[in-house]
Amino acid sequence: MAQKLIEHGFEIVEFGTIADIYIINTCTVTNIADRKSRQMARRAKQLNPKSIVVAIGCYAQVAQSELEKIDEIDLVLGNNEKKQIVKYLENYNIEKKHEIIDIFSQKEYLEYGDITYTEKTRAVVKIQDGCDRFCTYCIIPYARGRVRSRTVENILEEIKKNVENGIKEVVITGIHIASYGKDLNNISLINLLECINQIPDLKRIRLGSLEPTIITDEFVTRLSKLEKICHHFHLSLQSGCNDTLKRMNRRYTVEEFKKVVERLKRTYPEVAITTDIIVGFPGETEEEFEQTKKFLKDIKFYKMHVFKYSPRKGTKAATMNAQVSGEIKEKRSNELICISNKNEQEYIEQFIGKEMEVLLEEQEGDYIKGHTENYITVKIKANQGNENELRTVKLQKRDGMELIGVA
Ligand code: SF4
Repeated sequence: MAQKLIEHGFEIVEFGTIADIYIINTCTVTNIADRKSRQMARRAKQLNPKSIVVAIGCYAQVAQSELEKIDEIDLVLGNNEKKQIVKYLENYNIEKKHEIIDIFSQKEYLEYGDITYTEKTRAVVKIQDGCDRFCTYCIIPYARGRVRSRTVENILEEIKKNVENGIKEVVITGIHIASYGKDLNNISLINLLECINQIPDLKRIRLGSLEPTIITDEFVTRLSKLEKICHHFHLSLQSGCNDTLKRMNRRYTVEEFKKVVERLKRTYPEVAITTDIIVGFPGETEEEFEQTKKFLKDIKFYKMHVFKYSPRKGTKAATMNAQVSGEIKEKRSNELICISNKNEQEYIEQFIGKEMEVLLEEQEGDYIKGHTENYITVKIKANQGNENELRTVKLQKRDGMELIGVA
């Protein structure tokens, strides 16, 4: 949207400043996300009472009428309307209300064209939209619809343009990237990655969150031949207990998950595996939580993002019995965060004394920071390198959860 607006002569300003139009790209993943979106809209109107405040995206998609009742919001648009944002704004004085397109009626990927408006050194490239998994706690399939994959040609085109603009690393993202190609003929994620790997001058391919079941022997064997793939995989586990996983409608067991991790570790001995965990899912007993804890200690993820389960209106889990109290969720979350911090520290310390390539991203004070391909944050003295440069760095010591080195 930002790129489309810039192309049509709009000027993008920081959110907290006075603007003529405020666009809140709403999230609906939790009830808190909904609340934040409503707060943002109110704040925008306070900043400039004469402005047009637009609520667009996932929350608007699933709760149009709820948002239309909020006085501070002038225009409510869903996910499919993003592509036409400029048209809706230009016609605002004529048409103030729009019927949001039913997301399930969208059968093909909605192509936005090449997006070259990126972070400084990394381009996030979307390859698909939607999810068919319907985990019982998740609202996303209702906001994003069914799996729709982008064509290989359009993805490659966008990456090539980004590379021409100096981008060295792409992050392959989507709602459920493991489903890439399901709706197209004879193409899957691994085929796509093989094509991306061939783009000249692209240095790194980082994968967004991956459904563990995609990581079969064949997938890893083919992946291991792609030298640009970063050895960093984010595999959402959510729980280390089979009964909890079943209630979540996650379609794997902890035994299968463990095999996936072993497969990756065999192929990439220093691999960084990160994950998401939900604590306090309805019905999670002390015994189930202990199973999760034991499993996590066994797997030793590099980092874990720990979420306290929060019921999301409109999902099956929100109506399940045996909701867990806030106090217990807090306690369980703290326990897992402790394990995560310990693992993170141990993981990064094993690289002290080694040389690794770092993509330098941003200067902060006296240092310039970047990431290794296995996603360790490394900083070197600012005079030793420049933004968007790949430098070999000798890693010397740990500073919090970062490593300091010399180039
Ligand atoms: S796979 Fe991810 S996006 Fe899809 S329903 Fe489950 S949690 Fe939601």
